[in-house]
Amino acid sequence: MTMTCDDLDLLLPEFLDGSLTTSQEEQAAVHLATCQQCTIEVNELEGVTKLYKEHGMLELPNEARQRIARALDIES
Ligand SMILES: [Zn+2]
Repeated sequence: MTMTCDDLDLLLPEFLDGSLTTSQEEQAAVHLATCQQCTIEVNELEGVTKLYKEHGMLELPNEARQRIARALDIES
């Protein structure tokens, strides 16, 4: 089974939490190895998510804030 960009997007909250199953993690890694777009997205989200968790609500453009809130599964 091949993971699509949408599949990875759905798993991003767990991915960022490190709470994926081993097989999900493997599939995500395979997808990331072949998809530059998702790699960039994950890198951005990881960096911003870390800041977000450390410093709370940041002054961010609405779109970015919504993406992070969605990734973290919280209300913006
Ligand atoms: Zn992708």
